Amino acid sequence: MTVIHNLGFPRIGPRRELKFALENYWKGNTEREELVETAQACFDDNLSRQANLDLQAVGDFSLYDQVLDHIVMFGNIPARCKAGDDELHQYFRLARGRAPGDENEQHVAAGEMTKWFDTNYHYIVPEFTNETTFTLNDKALIKQIHRARGQGLDAKPVIIGPLTYLWLGKAKDDINPLSLLEKLLPAYLELLRNISRCGVQWVQIDEPALVTDLSAQWQQAYHVAYQALSHSPVKLLLTTYFGALEDNLELATQLPVEGLHIDAVRARHEVEAVVKQLSPKKVLSLGVIDGRNIWKSDLTATLDWLEPVAAKRGNLLWIAPSCSLLHVPVDLDSESRIDPEIKSWLSFATQKLQELDVLGKALREGREAVAKQLAKNNAALLSRRVSARVHNDTVRQAIAAIKPEDLTRTSSFAARNRLHKAHLQLPLYPTTTIGSFPQTGEIRRLRRERKANNLSDFHYNTAIREVIADCIKEQENLGLDVLVHGEAERNDMVEYFGEQLEGFAFTQFGWVQSYGSRCVKPPIIYGDVRRPKPMTVEWVNFAQSCTTKPLKGMLTGPVTILNWSFVRDDQPRWQTCQQIGLAIRDEVIDLEKAGIRMIQIDEAALREGLPLRKSEWHKYLDWAVDAFRLCANAVYDTTQIHTHMCYSEFNDIIESIARLDADVISIETSRSDMALLDAFNDFEYPNQIGPGVYDIHSPNTPSIESMVYLLNQAASKLPAQNLWVNPDCGLKTRQWEEVKPALKNMVEAAKALRAKA
Ligand code: GLN
Ligand code: ZN
Repeated sequence: MTVIHNLGFPRIGPRRELKFALENYWKGNTEREELVETAQACFDDNLSRQANLDLQAVGDFSLYDQVLDHIVMFGNIPARCKAGDDELHQYFRLARGRAPGDENEQHVAAGEMTKWFDTNYHYIVPEFTNETTFTLNDKALIKQIHRARGQGLDAKPVIIGPLTYLWLGKAKDDINPLSLLEKLLPAYLELLRNISRCGVQWVQIDEPALVTDLSAQWQQAYHVAYQALSHSPVKLLLTTYFGALEDNLELATQLPVEGLHIDAVRARHEVEAVVKQLSPKKVLSLGVIDGRNIWKSDLTATLDWLEPVAAKRGNLLWIAPSCSLLHVPVDLDSESRIDPEIKSWLSFATQKLQELDVLGKALREGREAVAKQLAKNNAALLSRRVSARVHNDTVRQAIAAIKPEDLTRTSSFAARNRLHKAHLQLPLYPTTTIGSFPQTGEIRRLRRERKANNLSDFHYNTAIREVIADCIKEQENLGLDVLVHGEAERNDMVEYFGEQLEGFAFTQFGWVQSYGSRCVKPPIIYGDVRRPKPMTVEWVNFAQSCTTKPLKGMLTGPVTILNWSFVRDDQPRWQTCQQIGLAIRDEVIDLEKAGIRMIQIDEAALREGLPLRKSEWHKYLDWAVDAFRLCANAVYDTTQIHTHMCYSEFNDIIESIARLDADVISIETSRSDMALLDAFNDFEYPNQIGPGVYDIHSPNTPSIESMVYLLNQAASKLPAQNLWVNPDCGLKTRQWEEVKPALKNMVEAAKALRAKA
C-alpha cells in the first residue's frame, strides 16, 4: 500500500493571518498571547488540510523562518542577540535586529538573509565562529509534535539535516563549517531521541544540499554524519528536492537511513537509477506533484510511469509533492475573481494534496476507484492544451520572424559612447537614481481608490501627473543630471507590466512567503505574451515634458518578469522569456519614438534564475542574456540603454553581464566597499557603470565624505569617464525627508570628484 505524505506546508495562512499577527505584535499593538494564538490556529489549519494523508508534516511550521528555528534549536544564536533571556525576543532580534519593546541601544545587526536554494524564499543564515557550540533546545518542535499527535494525527517531524544546516551557514572567521559537524551531531542525536519519545516513528531529514555541487570533503562528511545518526531510535527519511542528485546519487542511496525522497518532477530522469540503486528494503519516496508551480498535475501521465514502480516496491513506495509546498499559495478556493477557465488549470497547496490523494487511491485500489477524478483532471488539462487563451498566432509569427541582428546594436559600444557624449552633454560622474521615488501614503491611496473604481481615470491620471511633476521638480532642485519619472503609478515592478500584458493572470490571495512576514503574489503566466498597447509611454512622456534635462524611461526586463512569476510549464522557460522580451522590445521602440533617449531595463532578478548546478549556468545565461538583448537592442545608436541589478556578485557571471551590452549598468555596491568592482576591472569591462554609493535600505543619511570615499575607491578600479553616481537601488520604500538630504549629499560628492578630476 503506497503511503502518501507531505514535506511541508505554507505557514503564512490562507489570508496571511500569521503575517498580520506578527506585524501587529512587532508594532506593539497586540500581546504575545494573540500572536501565539494566531500561529496555533494557522498550524491547526495546516494540519487539517493535510489530514487526508498518511503522514502530515510538522516542525516546518515557523513564526518566521525554519532555518532560524534550527539556529535557536541548536543554541546557535549569536551573542549580540541574547540580551535578556526572553527566547521569543532573541528570536526576533536575530530575525530583524529588534524585539518588541527593545530600546534603541538594544538594536543589533539582524542575521543575514539569503535565498533558499533557487527559490524566492529567504532564510536567516546561521553564523559560525571558532567559538560556536551547540546545545539542544527543542521545545518548539516537540510542542508541534504533541499538538499534532493530540489531534490523532501521525505527524512526521521535518528537520533540516546536519550537513545542509552547515552548508547553509556562513563562517564569520576562518572556521570551516564542516569542522563543526562533530560538535553538532550529538545535538542531532539527542533531538532524534527526544522525538522518538513522543511516539514518532519517522523523521523527515531534509538534505537538499545533495542536489548541489559538493566537494569530496562534503560527500565524505555525509557518510560520517549519517553513520552517527543511524544509531538513533527513529527511522530517517533522507529528503532531497529542487533537482537531481547526479554525482551524489550513489552517496544518497548508500547512506544508512531507512528511506530516501527524491524530486521526481525536476529529476524524473533519475527515478530509474534510484529505483535500481536503493536497497529494496528501504522506503523510496517520490515527489510526484510539482511543489514549485501552481499547475494541475497530469495525474494519468504520472500514474503511467508510477504504477510499475509501485508494483515493484509495494508498501515501500511513498509519494509526496516534490518539495515543501511553502513555495505555492495555500488555497485556490479563495480565488473568486480569476477567470474560471484559467482557474480550472490551477492547483495550490491544498489542491495539490488532493491530487496526491487521488494518486494514492489509484495506486492502492486501481484507477477505476478514482475514474471520475481522473476524467476531470484530463478534461482540465485538455482544455488548457487547446485553449485559445494560451496560444496566440501573432506572437508565434513574431517570434519566428526574429533575426539575429535584432539582438545586436548597430555599432559597437565605443562608437555609441562617442555619440552619447556628444548628444547628452553629461558632466563627468553624472548623477542619477535607480527609478522609484518614495511611495507616499497619498500615492498608495490613489492607486487603491482607482483599483476599487472609486476614482475616475481622469482624476487618477491628473493626480499621478501632479506627483510626477513634483518629483521632477525635486530632482531638478537636487541638481541631478539624469531624471526619472519616479514610478508612482507602479504597485510593483513586475505586476505593473504583467497587468498590461496578455498571457498573465493575477490572483487575489496567491501569496507566497518571501521572508518573515513578507509575502509576494507572483503573477501567473499562462499563455503567449503580447503587449496590446504601450504601457509606460504616456507617463514617461509627460515626465519628459516637465523638464529639459534628460529623462530615463523605466522598464522591467524579461528575465526579471519571468523569475518573479509562476511560469507556464507547457513550453520551456526560455521560450516564455523570449516572448516577454519581444513585448518589452515593443515598449522600448515606442519610448524611443516618443523621443526618450535613455531607457533603463531593470534585471533585478537575473542572478536569481541561476540553476543550482554550475554546469547548467551557461545554458540559462545564454537565453536570459539573449532575451535582454532582444528587448534592449532595438534602438538607434544614439539611444542609451541602462540596466540595473540589485546585487553585487558579478565575478562568476561577468562575461554574461558584458554580453548584455547595456551602455550603463547600475549595481549595488555600497555595502561591499566597492570591492566587487574588481570583477569588472579584471574583466576590463568596457561599458559604463553606476556603482551604488549608498545603501537605500537604511534610513540614515549618507555623508558626503562616505560617498566621496566610495567614489574614489571606484575610480581607483575603473576609468573615471565610465563612472556614474547613483544610490544602490530604488527609493520607493524611503521617505522624502530621508531621500532629499541623501541625494543632496550624493550630488555634492559627485561635484567634489569632478572638481578634483
Ligand atoms: N527601477 C526599480 C526601482 O527603482 C528597480 C527596483 C529593483 O531593482 N528592485 O524601484
Ligand atoms: Zn535594485
